[in-house]
Amino acid sequence: VSIALVHHPVLDRDGQVIVTAVTNLDVHDLARSARTYAVKNVFIVHPVEAQRELIGKVTRHWTEGAGGKRIPDRIAAMERVRIVPALDEVLGALGAQAEVWTTAASASGETLSFQAARAIAATDGPPILLVYGTGWGLAEPVHARATARLAPIAGRDGWNHLSVRAAVAISLDRLLGA
Ligand code: SAM
Repeated sequence: VSIALVHHPVLDRDGQVIVTAVTNLDVHDLARSARTYAVKNVFIVHPVEAQRELIGKVTRHWTEGAGGKRIPDRIAAMERVRIVPALDEVLGALGAQAEVWTTAASASGETLSFQAARAIAATDGPPILLVYGTGWGLAEPVHARATARLAPIAGRDGWNHLSVRAAVAISLDRLLGA
């Protein structure tokens, strides 16, 4: 299983397609959740080279630099971070057979339940990519690449707009947790 955090194409509050800036906290939190659930790769997808260089500096600080020396634990998490310009690179790396599951707080049409997704993740099948958005969520072209849309994490009363950090942790635990 791998996860991808997409910064473009994503939506703004008016439903326009935008590029979002990387949030340092996202990189750390997703890397730590990935290490916890033995997720191989955390793909940070960003079209802007300066942003990719920034993330590269942060990850190197923790995998090769002072951060990793101070807190060696973080190396095992941050070494999973892969920085790519577009989702194409991720799909290229995982191969055409990969299962691509997109996520969102709301979904119309058919969705893949966590129960069914957990059963698939338990088999020795093709690579699975979980795709998460930023801003106000993934734009349609990303969903169009999905082999399935993972069911939204439902709350108690319909309010379920989670931070992407929380959404990743909850979904990984449901799919891969003990
Ligand atoms: N700035 C916000 C933050 O602090 O994370 C960005 C929110 S971003 C739209 C939230 C992303 O997390 C969505 O694109 C989706 O991938 C995931 N997400 C949020 N709520 C979710 C839910 N209830 N079920 C599944 N995924 C959810």
